Amino acid sequence: MSRFCHPGRIYYGILVLVALAGLPGCAPTVMVSSRTAARRSHSLLRPEEYAALSRAWAEAMQFKQEYYQFPDHGREWNRMLAQLEWATARHRPYPHLIHGPASRRWVSLTFDDGPDPRTTPLVLDVLHATRVPATFFLIGRNAERHPNLVRRIVAEGHVLGNHSYHHIYLTRISPENARTELAACSKVIRLITGRSPRYYRPPGGHFDDSLVETGRQLGMRLVDWTDTLGDWQSPSPSLLLRHALGMLRPGGIMLWHDDIPVTAEVLLAFIQEARARGYRFVPLRAFERPAQDRRLDRPAPVRATVPFTRRAPRPPST
Ligand SMILES: [Zn+2]
Repeated sequence: MSRFCHPGRIYYGILVLVALAGLPGCAPTVMVSSRTAARRSHSLLRPEEYAALSRAWAEAMQFKQEYYQFPDHGREWNRMLAQLEWATARHRPYPHLIHGPASRRWVSLTFDDGPDPRTTPLVLDVLHATRVPATFFLIGRNAERHPNLVRRIVAEGHVLGNHSYHHIYLTRISPENARTELAACSKVIRLITGRSPRYYRPPGGHFDDSLVETGRQLGMRLVDWTDTLGDWQSPSPSLLLRHALGMLRPGGIMLWHDDIPVTAEVLLAFIQEARARGYRFVPLRAFERPAQDRRLDRPAPVRATVPFTRRAPRPPST
């Protein structure tokens, strides 16, 4: 037996070969498969649909760039534009769900901007443990990345809504691009769950006549909210809880965000306290009444930017 054919050396040689060929081979294999997975997670739509979405995104970014050139990053301009929209759009007789009957202590919870793998499961755990139904307005791009989470939301009895594909303000882009955004999000949800969403909520609550018409053509009902809690500003848990309980009202459609950690933190305490006060959590469909579709009979919803902004200190009394 030559010294190169000694069984011990052969065994050692195999190990060396595995180390040299196998291990470096593993890395590219893993990389390829993760790249494939990434590609797969973005392959629900057709190439021309992604191209159209890129145009919508580019238009939104162009708009943003333009108003960022203002000294205050366009905040004032944006605020005025939003005010104008809120003043006009919200007082049209749209088929538009904004609140439930004020005669019953019923509240419907809605969660926007998910699914998020860090926080959505926590929110779902609380909802499951407390048997509370909710509506999740998904961002199409996030849904595409986390299809299992989307399936879990549906499997646990919740309803899905459309929150556009990229989460861009749909009134700041052309009607065609706005349609592309809504249609793509609906399609992603349909391809994952087998059903198209019946509800949509435009990002930022910005809508106008043409967007409402687009939503109608796509077979969806616009859902607004009664109260937005400002959880996206990540306040402290105690402040958010106090604020949420303060906003409890019969027929409320509460806007939460399931991609914000503090939301998951306070949700259980909120649900328990709301129930102790006699509130019942119902799905959005419990609020769908023909009379409500005709006309908005309440003022514009409350925006929660105010409670979390610090007040200017009072001048010392002299
Ligand atoms: Zn949103």
